Amino acid sequence: MSSVMVVDDSRSQRLVIQQYLEPLKCQVVLCGSGQEALSTIADTTPDVIILDVEMAGLSGFETCRALRGFLQNDWVPIIYLTGRSSPDDMVEGLEAGGDAYITKPVNEAVLRAMVQAMLRISSIQQELIEANKKLDEIAYFDVLTQVMNRRGYEDIYERLWNDHKRRKQSLCVMLLDIDHFKTYNDHYGHIAGDQCLRQVAKTIKSALKRPIDVIARYGGEEFVILLPDTNLEGAQSVAQRIIEALTQAAIPHEHSSCAKHVTVSIGIAECTDISKSQLSQSDLIQKADEALYQSKEQGRNRATCANLN
Ligand code: GH3
Ligand code: MG
Ligand code: MG
Ligand code: MG
Repeated sequence: MSSVMVVDDSRSQRLVIQQYLEPLKCQVVLCGSGQEALSTIADTTPDVIILDVEMAGLSGFETCRALRGFLQNDWVPIIYLTGRSSPDDMVEGLEAGGDAYITKPVNEAVLRAMVQAMLRISSIQQELIEANKKLDEIAYFDVLTQVMNRRGYEDIYERLWNDHKRRKQSLCVMLLDIDHFKTYNDHYGHIAGDQCLRQVAKTIKSALKRPIDVIARYGGEEFVILLPDTNLEGAQSVAQRIIEALTQAAIPHEHSSCAKHVTVSIGIAECTDISKSQLSQSDLIQKADEALYQSKEQGRNRATCANLN
């Protein structure tokens, strides 16, 4: 149900407006002052605000500015209802952040039509916000492997990095690369290759026990894992769990040099205290990549920790 907040210092005015709005079947919240509107809005955001201009305490224009400051990007239409109707008043009110202006004595039909028009804009805006949220989800999602994609990973990595810097906690990154995946594709075909990628992603995901651990497809047959508040020992045991999970999953790979099943090589890098570290975000990934390369060199199907000295 939509809700309309009515701010007026005259009780009789508030009741008249409430009565006019009744046919709209929306919830009406009455406030006797600008201050009351500000404290009420901290709990619930209405869909439309009707605001008297001449009030004791905060005026309507002052209230409007304060509401806009409080709501920030959360746009709620504000309709002034006032006896002051000079062009200067209207300009001042609209510049203070109001969206429409109705002069008293108020016409019942005009008030209702105006509120309905504003509710319409408000709901279109809400739909746009929802649609944007969905787009973000799609934009951050890798359809093939059903994990986050590179873009999502970059966004989360940035946020985790800043968060860890503030909290002075360890952050581990892990790069994983499927071993001999080219020969897998060559022998089983690309469709089987895609299916294999999906299964590997699922298996890796199942080996991550903490819900805040992040897995993303880094590109091609490579994955990246971010382990918040985790030290090197913790990351090593996660890597071991992943290697074991893939052994259990036993996806056949007849042409691999390192096992009879699909395996991954892993590189791990830890940043102990980002606030003191000289490493940048990309340095840490670079270190993990070097460690991954060593895992490949040493025979694959294993994890190596980066030497950060
Ligand atoms: P290594 O053990 O050294 O990592 O060898 P590799 O064969 O896994 O590495 P290479 O980089 O030579 O080959 C990666 C292969 O991954 C080649 C590419 O065709 C395959 N690949 C990347 N993305 C996809 C995908 O989305 N689907 C499929 N089926 N294959 C992919
Ligand atoms: Mg008044
Ligand atoms: Mg690769
Ligand atoms: Mg590979």
